[in-house]
Amino acid sequence: MSIVSDEERFAATILLIDDERDITEVLAMMLRTGGYKNVHIVNDPRRAVETFRTIRPDLVITDLAMPGMDGFDVVQALRAEATTYVPIIMMTAYADRDNRLNALRLGVQDFISKPFEPAELYARIRNLLDVRLLYRRLEETNRLLEERVRERTQELELLNEQLRRSNEELSTFAYVAAHDLKEPVRMVVLNAQLLIRSLEGRLGERERRIAEFIIEGGRRINDLIDRLLEYSRVDTRGNPFETVDLNEVLSDVLQDLALLLEEHQVEVTADPLPVVWGDRVQLRQVLQNLITNAVKFRDPDRRPRVHLSAREEKDEFVITVQDNGIGIEPEYQERIFLIFQRLHDREKYPGLGAGLAICKRIVERHRGRIWVESEPGKGSTFYIALPKEPVLPGPSKQEE
Ligand code: ADP
Repeated sequence: MSIVSDEERFAATILLIDDERDITEVLAMMLRTGGYKNVHIVNDPRRAVETFRTIRPDLVITDLAMPGMDGFDVVQALRAEATTYVPIIMMTAYADRDNRLNALRLGVQDFISKPFEPAELYARIRNLLDVRLLYRRLEETNRLLEERVRERTQELELLNEQLRRSNEELSTFAYVAAHDLKEPVRMVVLNAQLLIRSLEGRLGERERRIAEFIIEGGRRINDLIDRLLEYSRVDTRGNPFETVDLNEVLSDVLQDLALLLEEHQVEVTADPLPVVWGDRVQLRQVLQNLITNAVKFRDPDRRPRVHLSAREEKDEFVITVQDNGIGIEPEYQERIFLIFQRLHDREKYPGLGAGLAICKRIVERHRGRIWVESEPGKGSTFYIALPKEPVLPGPSKQEE
């Protein structure tokens, strides 16, 4: 069974080039008798290229010796014109070895000798057309694939654009909120303080506590606004990407956290970390956050330990920050990356619940992923996967 059907083959376009009308007539008739429906004839070799351009044939049969322009020139001109694979057969009157070699070197695929022997002619045409038609199928598949890639790229660009716009909106919202909210909050705190001061000595214990609640609440709102602002600015206020040696970043972080680590006798160990592509300040923030959390959520019954390591995968580096702290119940392991989501009461573990959400946004700006695996009571391991190839900063996904 043949991969190319007769139907497909017979529909192919064949161009015959020969100055001798009799020959082209005979040849065309033979081809039509053989089933080929689209046979075109050019008797003036100087018009070969022009016709080739208009009919875009699947196969060319040309004579060698023609007045005005010989077969070699025709082949060369057609080769220069062809944008795809088009086989060429050359008609030779006698077995001229040098001519054949020349023709082969110019890209001629096959020869037929005059007088033509129909069976041989059909076999040669069929062989070459099969290659041509398979090539055409390949081109078609390629074209479809390219089209699909283009469509998908367009869709992605559209989604990216929507994401960028909604990030911008978040940023604008946060900016406006910051200005519109911070001022009244500041006034509440200030006035509560003034009230306490002016009523000095006249306030009962209860009133005093209420006033302090107001002040404390106001400060908290202020902190929440600041964190929301920070969260919203991960994309818009980030630095351009550069190569970042995470070993250096870690050593800076450990220096910054020296007091905290010493206070709680934290044992920090690290395997060699990779050099990645990203925003140094933001990556530092991520490591600092994860290590601070490891200390904050330590188990009071054992010495806190933090271990950093990295492994190289096919397309990404996966950096891990492992602690031996209190751990996180499985049902909360995704929620902790949402903004202002916390699992503990403020008295026991102070915080606003924005740290991991900001980390997630930063990692997404680096086109990476962050997740946690944890066993309550034993400890948690945070994973950050970052692409190995340099990437452009991407918009991070927004939370509901
Ligand atoms: P915050 O620390 O301000 O509460 P985060 O966004 O950093 O906010 O963390 C969110 C929550 O995830 C924390 O309140 C805590 O319950 C949990 N968490 C984060 N890191 C750890 C950790 N290393 N071990 C146990 N729980 C953690």
